[in-house]
Amino acid sequence: MTAIPFLRPQLPSLAAIAPYYRLAEEARFFSNGGPCERLLRAALSDHLGGVGTVPVNNATSGLIVAIKAVLDAHGTGDRPYVVMPSYTFVATAGAARIMGLQPLFIDVEPDSWQMDADALADVLDTFPGQVAAVLGTHTFGLPASAATQQRWKQLCADAGVPLVVDAAAGFGGLDDTGARSGRDTVPHVYSFHATKTFAIGEGGLITTLDEDLLQRIEALHSFGFAQGRLATYAGINAKMDELHAATALAALDSFDTVLARRREIAQTYRERLEPFGFRFQTGNAGGTWQAGYVSAPDAATRTAVLAVAAGRQIGVTAYYERPVHRHPAYAGSPVHGPLTVTDDLAARALALPMANDLSADEVDRVIDVTVEAARTAAQATAGSGVAAV
Ligand SMILES: *Cc1c(COP(=O)(O)O)cnc(C)c1O
Repeated sequence: MTAIPFLRPQLPSLAAIAPYYRLAEEARFFSNGGPCERLLRAALSDHLGGVGTVPVNNATSGLIVAIKAVLDAHGTGDRPYVVMPSYTFVATAGAARIMGLQPLFIDVEPDSWQMDADALADVLDTFPGQVAAVLGTHTFGLPASAATQQRWKQLCADAGVPLVVDAAAGFGGLDDTGARSGRDTVPHVYSFHATKTFAIGEGGLITTLDEDLLQRIEALHSFGFAQGRLATYAGINAKMDELHAATALAALDSFDTVLARRREIAQTYRERLEPFGFRFQTGNAGGTWQAGYVSAPDAATRTAVLAVAAGRQIGVTAYYERPVHRHPAYAGSPVHGPLTVTDDLAARALALPMANDLSADEVDRVIDVTVEAARTAAQATAGSGVAAV
């Protein structure tokens, strides 16, 4: 039996990239908004139904740029906290901390795994005038429901606090009403990292429908240049170069196929694992499926699945196994509430293998090993129960 790795990243072939990259070669223009970058902005905007787009060199620098833009626009930069869920990737918190702000962690909802709007209301009430921004997320690349997104926006607007969404894994994501992620005044930040579903190596995108923010983001991602080479703001260099823009244009050409295949694999995982007590995020049909995210019925089953899969060389991992507030770098950051749901999800989280070309046979093997481990764990639990009586 051959091994099944956790992920098997696949970028567009050189042959698919070449016709785009040739435009840059012909123009002798390799960054600072060359022909591929300009084409990409337009193509991504079209894809999202018309929205301002700023390609960036990765999502983490995109988050720094987007956070800086909203702080400047709202004048909240002297406040200490950025509210965010702890059930996310460390880059969400890193982007705030590198700017001298403190993450203030809140819980997620048990079924959607998304930032809890009640917890957000409570933290904004508890820390009036102290929250610089709220950093919502697309947990595992899935947008929160339309109603939840609307509540986040309303709560932030009422508190006078700007909102940014770390939608890193969520390019192509749909919410429960079928609306595409990113077509919003709220800036959304995406990653095009090699391991994401829209994969180009290193890269990302910021979107917003807010013209003022768009201009700030544009300037801040290019040294703060708002007019020619005059530094109006203190910016960074987060620009996407032409080779990555060419790769992204090629990736967009096959993106619908890639996304459809991953959703099909995810649906098979869902149909065949739900009967055994495994749980998937609510609203997950619109997910982007960077991996097969699922929650085991209990921690013992998670442990069993990881052990049995490892023995068969099947790359099942635990993700997010460690919430951000439990990483050493963020252990001193404030937490609002006990984060019970976060800790519970972290103890049961699994990520099943995913790839554009994961075969039906490989999908079967992943499911079989997961079900077998779950049965063994259930028998062990029943057995120990009998022994205890
Ligand atoms: C992948 C990811 C990032 C980081 O993206 P990069 O492009 O690698 O910087 C940030 N936040 C979340 C939630 C992610 O999943």
